[in-house]
Amino acid sequence: MSSFLTSSGSDFIYSTSQSALTLMTKHKVVPTPENYQLWYTHSAQSDLNLSKTLENLLAKNIPFDDVLNKKLYENFFSREQEIKTVNETSAIFQKEVAKIVSIIKDVGKDTNNHSKALAQHIDTIADFEGSQELKAVIKLILEDTDKIRQQSEKLENKLMESSGRIKNLQRNLDNARLESRTDALTNIGNRKYFDEQLMAQMNLYRQKRQKFCLIICDIDYFKKFNDNFGHQIGDQVLKVVAHVIKNEVDGVGFPARYGGEEFAMLLPKAGNDGGTIVAETVRKIISQRTIKNKATGANFGKITMSFGIATIHGDEPADDLIARADEALYLAKQNGRNRVQSELDLVGEQTQTIKVSA
Ligand code: GH3
Ligand code: MG
Ligand code: MG
Repeated sequence: MSSFLTSSGSDFIYSTSQSALTLMTKHKVVPTPENYQLWYTHSAQSDLNLSKTLENLLAKNIPFDDVLNKKLYENFFSREQEIKTVNETSAIFQKEVAKIVSIIKDVGKDTNNHSKALAQHIDTIADFEGSQELKAVIKLILEDTDKIRQQSEKLENKLMESSGRIKNLQRNLDNARLESRTDALTNIGNRKYFDEQLMAQMNLYRQKRQKFCLIICDIDYFKKFNDNFGHQIGDQVLKVVAHVIKNEVDGVGFPARYGGEEFAMLLPKAGNDGGTIVAETVRKIISQRTIKNKATGANFGKITMSFGIATIHGDEPADDLIARADEALYLAKQNGRNRVQSELDLVGEQTQTIKVSA
């Protein structure tokens, strides 16, 4: 009976809300609307980045005072929310302005037709006593009608201008949104972009069982490279790597800078085999490229990368998928770097261990 009364959607909201309030009480967070939004989002697990930040702070026992709470809210919601609200509002404006413009256009057309009709009527009025006065009155009406037509034309132009400005505003907002999801150095998606795309893939998988594959890769011995040639040359390497990854993955998946010298690729509809082909292609291209200073011609040698692949399984959370790709990457490092390993290699390792111990 209770399941008849409450949908699973509202069950989720109640339990998420409950767990958010419990956590806030436990960690002495004042339940202001802003703080509640933050902890509710965490409890709903709808922003992995936010959850990780809160979990890190909790692990370090950092108190959630007013300053920290405000900073957290601003980081995760304030600007984003502002952009979203303005974007939605301007879209509504845009629609309304378009409606008004179309009404004014109709009025303009009617007025035009009206003027034409009046002009024709003047010509058809035969001469009779007083007809000259009548024609003069109609001419006055014609002049007034023409003024109305001019005014509605002006109004239409002004509204078209406003509509153009609103379109520009929306374009700027879209750019701001894109910018906040782009890594400034390498110009590919950043961690926030990756988290969003991962969540989108998780939703598609949960709702439609559309599988996907995750590749995480990491530059080999990058610290040494930086130490040898300097951070700036290291930055150039990151740009080259991002460029190659973007070239190979754009169109079939979502590439991103996962952090530092690590990159990630999400490949919708792909499994282990598809992921391996993409990872191997990127690995080969990177390992064959010589890093050179375009201006001076200085040669910095070659770099290599290691890759870990995992495909979504069962009802696992996104974190498990990431952990498996990470483990596979770790295995690639252990096995000598400049190679691709997948979760299947991990299963092989475990099976081997079991065989040995048995
Ligand atoms: P491994 O093969 O095990 O991955 O070794 P590694 O040296 O690449 O790994 P480690 O984690 O020891 O070092 C990562 C280095 O990546 C250290 C850090 O300075 C460098 N790095 C991270 N982000 C950047 C960046 O934005 N620019 C530059 N130039 N270097 C970066
Ligand atoms: Mg690393
Ligand atoms: Mg590395």
